[in-house]
Amino acid sequence: MSKGPLTTCFNTTRLNATTFVIREEDFYNDQPLIYVKVFSEPPLLLLSDTGSGGHGLSPSIQLTSLRTYLETFPVSSNSDKPLNPSGTLPYLIICTHCHNDHILGIPDFTTPKCDTTILASSYDPSFITDDLPTHSGCLDLNIPTPTYEVSYWAHHLETITYNSVSLNIQILHTPGHTPDELAWYDSTERHLYVGDTFYELRSPFVLTPIIFPLEGDWVDYMHSLRILYAFIEEQNNKHISALRLKIGCAHITFSVDAADIVAEVQALFMRIIQGKVPVISSTEERGETCDLWMESPEAKYSVQAPRRLVELARKYFSEHPELLVVES
Ligand SMILES: [Zn+2]
Repeated sequence: MSKGPLTTCFNTTRLNATTFVIREEDFYNDQPLIYVKVFSEPPLLLLSDTGSGGHGLSPSIQLTSLRTYLETFPVSSNSDKPLNPSGTLPYLIICTHCHNDHILGIPDFTTPKCDTTILASSYDPSFITDDLPTHSGCLDLNIPTPTYEVSYWAHHLETITYNSVSLNIQILHTPGHTPDELAWYDSTERHLYVGDTFYELRSPFVLTPIIFPLEGDWVDYMHSLRILYAFIEEQNNKHISALRLKIGCAHITFSVDAADIVAEVQALFMRIIQGKVPVISSTEERGETCDLWMESPEAKYSVQAPRRLVELARKYFSEHPELLVVES
């Protein structure tokens, strides 16, 4: 039998000097992106989400535990070393939100016991602590819901320290996709991570619209896009000689100009609210009609959401037209 590396559902590439992006091949073909940032001072491995936990994959894929992968699997873009050899670094897991394809890997990092801190948004803790089976989507998929406790509820614009040392990481509350959706900014690398708030439609590996669950909120979402754009512009203008901010999303898109993508997504949502984008198909989800908007077969983005959300947004913005703005 071959003694080569195990087959695995994870594929890692280097994003910048301290950060790697892992694409997970999962049972539902959501292909979540997991980001790993390695700190030497303080010694720490920051994980942005934990993927799908290997749920439902064929036994021919031998290595499906994210933790085992991080601690044992040689990564070519890391000089053929694992990202956390023998698990010497403690873990800080930033949960961009609690959907199944982002949290199913968490139990690997809590059992067997391991030095792990789990950070989530303080915007609406009950979304995570009350009825996680429904809110994570696990109940709908008929799969076990992971149990975990959030050890740190991070506030909007809070800067994060670990063992009293600044990580140069800042949290932004960005409710909309879900109430607990957050973004985090790595000011050292000038990279902003936005979870499932948006991403492009297609990569060589996967095709997926920006999706809203029944718990989404388009009014909050449009507000969060404005918050993100203002934050990006402030950072770009504050350090004009530095590189412009990049954005990494939790699917498909991992390094694009931050201001450009937020402005494009904002403009698309405005056109949808104004009724200018066709619905190309509709489905039923948990008893509600969900529509799929797409401007053309070559479109860069598409959006799938409960029809109720856009109807509420249309009503809200007809009463507050001054809030429906597009950055340029
Ligand atoms: Zn999600």
